[in-house]
Amino acid sequence: RPHRAFVCPGGREGGGGSATDGIIRVMQWNTLAQALGEGMDSFVNCPPEALNWAERKYLILEEILTYRPHILCLQEVDHYHDTFQPTLARLGYRGNFCPKPWSPCLDVEGNNGPDGCALFYDSARFQLADSVNMHLSALLMPTNQVAVVTTLICRLTSKRLRVAVTHLKARSGWECLRSAQGSDLLRYLTSLAQSPGLPAGGTPDTPLLVCGDFNAVPSEDVYRLFASSPLNLDSAYKRLSRDGLSEPAYTTWKIRTTGECCSTLDYIWYSRDGFSVDAVLDMPTEEQIGPNRLPSFNYPSDHLSLVCDLSFKEHVD
Ligand code: NDP
Ligand code: CA
Repeated sequence: RPHRAFVCPGGREGGGGSATDGIIRVMQWNTLAQALGEGMDSFVNCPPEALNWAERKYLILEEILTYRPHILCLQEVDHYHDTFQPTLARLGYRGNFCPKPWSPCLDVEGNNGPDGCALFYDSARFQLADSVNMHLSALLMPTNQVAVVTTLICRLTSKRLRVAVTHLKARSGWECLRSAQGSDLLRYLTSLAQSPGLPAGGTPDTPLLVCGDFNAVPSEDVYRLFASSPLNLDSAYKRLSRDGLSEPAYTTWKIRTTGECCSTLDYIWYSRDGFSVDAVLDMPTEEQIGPNRLPSFNYPSDHLSLVCDLSFKEHVD
């Protein structure tokens, strides 16, 4: 698989961080549910053998082990109990999984159960404070989309951080639903941030990360909601661009019977007050992805992983 380099904001090559120097490495990845990839997605240029779970699972694990994130946020996980949880537990990770209430995987013959969001953390680096599984609502109505919100304590610094992982409603025509789901998640995260004793409008004491497949391009309402939230969030992958203001050109690239889809749907949001971004993993080029796009024998999902190195900002009173 082609090498991807870590880029420091400003253009230097980086990514040398390890658990001992205070860097927190975060991975966001829609790993492509096995049942959807084989039974629903119709990736017309992807050879069926590249979707064989017995081999594809090793490519997914290889990707995770190549970067060894301290925090791993995954969507479309339909092999949590039989693959991700036991394998990652042996490597020192602990995790939480929230299945979708009516996962489309269940409509696929021979499915392995519902897909959902999973949040793993390196237990050598973090201690669990709390984890909540959320079913996202829209206008007070339950929807089929979920989130996991986990609060962790860093064993190096004793600092707390909160991480949320989500996968918003897919497809065009559902922009309003995505926006409502994003509002629901932001409302919940805001309620957690306003801990007793914090002055109204004060800086949340627990810095936040929100990782997800938002199924929304940067011009959509839900992106604007996150970018302008009082939680003061910024999108880490903007730091890959020259001006530091633009998202990458794509985080997913596939060819379905309905045509080619190359778009930016996945994000790592972080508290501007709480973290600085030290490095982000560059995206593969169009040539590296290849003419048949994703997934492929080289890339096991139709989404690319997003990986960044963050560090706690020191606060000067
Ligand atoms: P979404 O519309 O959010 O999408 C589900 C998956 O389909 C996503 O993982 C998405 O991937 C993928 N996808 C996106 N675009 C396409 C496409 N063009 N072709 C194929 N796959 C695509 O699903 P919902 O959560 O809303 O669930 C919808 C399904 O759930 C229904 O079809 C039904 O089967 C089931 N359902 C059942 C209910 C019941 O009462 N039994 C109630 C509600 C739903 P990505 O995010 O990567 O784009
Ligand atoms: Ca998908």
